[in-house]
Amino acid sequence: MTYPYEAPASQALFDRAAAVTPGGVNSPVRAFGAVGGTPRFMVSGRGPYLTDADGREYVDLVCSWGPMILGHAHPAVVDAIRAAAGHGTSFGTPSPGEVELAEEIVARVDPVEQVRLVSSGTEATMSALRLARGFTGRSKVVKFAGCYHGHVDALLASAGSGVVTFGLPDTPGVTGASAADTIVLPYNDLALVAAAFEEHGDQIACVITEAAAANMGVVPPLPGFNAGLQSLCAQYGALFISDEVMTGFRVSRSGWFGIEGVVPDLMTFGKVMGGGLPAAAFGGRRDVMSHLAPAGPVYQAGTLSGNPVAVAAGLAQLRHCTDDVYAHVDRTAATVARLVSEALEKEGVEHRVNTAGSLFGVFFCDHAVVDFATATSQNVLRYKAFFHEMLARGVYLPPSAYEAWFVGATHDDAVLERIAEAAPHAARAAADVA
Ligand SMILES: *Cc1c(COP(=O)(O)O)cnc(C)c1O
Repeated sequence: MTYPYEAPASQALFDRAAAVTPGGVNSPVRAFGAVGGTPRFMVSGRGPYLTDADGREYVDLVCSWGPMILGHAHPAVVDAIRAAAGHGTSFGTPSPGEVELAEEIVARVDPVEQVRLVSSGTEATMSALRLARGFTGRSKVVKFAGCYHGHVDALLASAGSGVVTFGLPDTPGVTGASAADTIVLPYNDLALVAAAFEEHGDQIACVITEAAAANMGVVPPLPGFNAGLQSLCAQYGALFISDEVMTGFRVSRSGWFGIEGVVPDLMTFGKVMGGGLPAAAFGGRRDVMSHLAPAGPVYQAGTLSGNPVAVAAGLAQLRHCTDDVYAHVDRTAATVARLVSEALEKEGVEHRVNTAGSLFGVFFCDHAVVDFATATSQNVLRYKAFFHEMLARGVYLPPSAYEAWFVGATHDDAVLERIAEAAPHAARAAADVA
């Protein structure tokens, strides 16, 4: 296909990057492999806007894949980073900000009695898994097809996000041994989870699920699914791990837990809690968390864990994530979803909009999307056409049909206007795809 605009400065950077970095990027989805064309190299962000190396400005509906809920370069977050950096960027000792951030998380999320800070969502889920295995003395893990928990070896089987975007069946480099204890089941099918417990109940250490799946596109849990997982785990003595790396502090003050109220044994966090810097966490029941070193025998560590600058950014961001912010994000997400859906309807393009709190996304298909199989039977060529027309008109969507769309506190009426102007053209481009 031909792309509506060239991006020569980004292309030049991409060419240089490809010489020194595999595929030219440091995280696969950024390479535009699924949509084609030149990945935009962004040089600055302000509120809801990004500016690329060619000087073109975009409304940002990716928000760094979730973290930038207050908008880019929020003054309070930037000030907190400046102040913290001025006092030194890493000590390799405990520091006061870590205590404050842990207290903030514990105060917001009821099931979290203790929390350990790490630097990425991947580290959080990897560590939660090790802790669940160490605590229960069991080895098997249940995960759901299409759920993404970072690039943890044991959790890459049938994963969402970049793994589905690039159609990777199973990643080379993950040994049979490290995947052998992973049981992959279809999302939203409680009967199959019950059957797995009947067969392997005494060997299952934990069930891990995205609190609301949003890495195969947005696929909310059916009513009773999470509660059913929780009670099966309790019945068989396994731990229930709710991965809130994406939903945590984004869909409500206390994440998906705040919406649904199902109490997990362990939870994982990342994205919003770092304010755009690398900070993540896992936490939960005190009796489980106390098995972590140095309180207990399960080892886990990190040179930059609880980094003072990252912690300061995260704290500043969380403290500005007020009820007003969540109400605004909810409203704006619903409006963007409606604008896009109306435009597609007008052009007769079959589609489904799925939402989970303020997370939303569009599937180009004519059936309900409730799991990985229904998510992947969509017309991704239509998304590609839609994506490029929006991009050309200054709206930056996820460069993959299998990712959630994000808005933030600074997405205002001017932003909505630009989306409303672009969407009919993008819908026409999608309609033109057979
Ligand atoms: C993004 C994400 C991760 C991985 O976090 P990273 O910081 O990219 O390692 C894990 N789980 C979920 C649900 C995510 O959305």
